[in-house]
Amino acid sequence: MAASTEQISVDFLVVGGGIFGVYAALYLASQGCQVVLVEKEKKLMQKASVVNQARLHSGYHYPRSVATARMSDENKARFTRDHQDFILFDFAKYYAIDRYGSLTDAAQFERFCRYIDIPCKPVNKHPLFNYHRLEAVFETQEYTFDPQLIAAYYREKVNSAVGVDVWSYHQIEAAGAVGEAWEIEIRSLENQNLKKVRARQIINATYSASNAINQLFGLEEINLMHEISEMAFVSSPQLKNIGLTIMDGPFGSIMPYGKSGLLSLSSVAYTHHKVSYAAQPTFDCQSFREDCSPGFTSVCNYCEFRPRSNYQKMLAQMRQYLTDEVALHYFTSMYTIKSKLRANHIDDGRPTEIGLLSKNPRFYCIFAGKINSIYEIEKVVEL
Ligand SMILES: Cc1cc2nc3c(=O)[nH]c(=O)nc-3n(C[C@H](O)[C@H](O)[C@H](O)COP(=O)(O)OP(=O)(O)OC[C@H]3O[C@@H](n4cnc5c(N)ncnc54)[C@H](O)[C@@H]3O)c2cc1C
Repeated sequence: MAASTEQISVDFLVVGGGIFGVYAALYLASQGCQVVLVEKEKKLMQKASVVNQARLHSGYHYPRSVATARMSDENKARFTRDHQDFILFDFAKYYAIDRYGSLTDAAQFERFCRYIDIPCKPVNKHPLFNYHRLEAVFETQEYTFDPQLIAAYYREKVNSAVGVDVWSYHQIEAAGAVGEAWEIEIRSLENQNLKKVRARQIINATYSASNAINQLFGLEEINLMHEISEMAFVSSPQLKNIGLTIMDGPFGSIMPYGKSGLLSLSSVAYTHHKVSYAAQPTFDCQSFREDCSPGFTSVCNYCEFRPRSNYQKMLAQMRQYLTDEVALHYFTSMYTIKSKLRANHIDDGRPTEIGLLSKNPRFYCIFAGKINSIYEIEKVVEL
């Protein structure tokens, strides 16, 4: 049977069904726009939007990037208000400084917190922390959101939103500007039907696929690098309501993963397995699969060719900062591609940047740094 062709006109085509694309689609629909949201996977929000440390950033993490620290703190209040059912408030969050090899020290970290105006109280004694290895420990105020609960909430919300058509498991085949609009051909990967869409504006919210989509529309690339990253998940009776992040350099972090009862464990040295400096994420494991390529990556989390877990190294590293009474039990790991702006390689900043890559017709590319900055689109988009 021949595949059929459908034609529609909308105000916006949003590409990418992670939290940034879904939020953008909902926002635009709330402003009276007609939106198509296209996602390549069968289900929305399966990549970085759920595979992350779930830190509701207040700024502490970025002593080398005041811009990221400020943006984190600015967005925190609204994100917290809008997602309060999915946030764990009730736990103690500590930041600590490694005695050896840190890029910051206790005095500098405290000064930075004062400058950004975020609470930071020295803790000179704690039964669970190893002060032989830690120069200083600070009690801070930082929460954790639950990525899985947030994903379920947004999937439901966008699937029932008036004004948004969600096309999951679809692929953009061709795109070009015709007069004052974009014309795009999108194929269903389920039944091969082709849809022709005329959209006044495009929002590219595909994160690690940003450059693949920019290229499809004939637009400039942004300067990215990519890593296949592993978040390990552990349980610990002693750390159940405690988070500890070691600053600032090749250290690690352990903290509740939202309301799951598990702790996420990450390490600057061991979380990131493979690095790609190409414009599109290019990894040797892609050669083992027909459905994964630099321009069209699959979900690493379900891939049998994903890297072997580094959890033992991550556990060994974290144990150095804890006393012997803390037990850590490994549960599982999740993987995804983490992409970063190359410009932030030195200061470790993670700003969310939204570029207007074409003015007529308009095309925005959102490159997301932190989840609580989903609202940034509202500041720049012209309806
Ligand atoms: C290991 C790690 C830890 C992190 N920790 C934190 C943290 O603690 N706190 C925090 O705030 N942030 C954290 N982040 C950053 C945060 O997770 C990301 O900035 C955010 O999730 C990006 O969301 P997104 O919607 O842009 O991308 P994604 O969630 O990756 O969504 C992009 C979507 O685009 C789709 N797509 C790709 N190509 C196409 C195509 N051709 N057509 C259609 N759709 C396509 C993908 O399938 C995907 O669904 C972390 C990130 C990682 C990877």
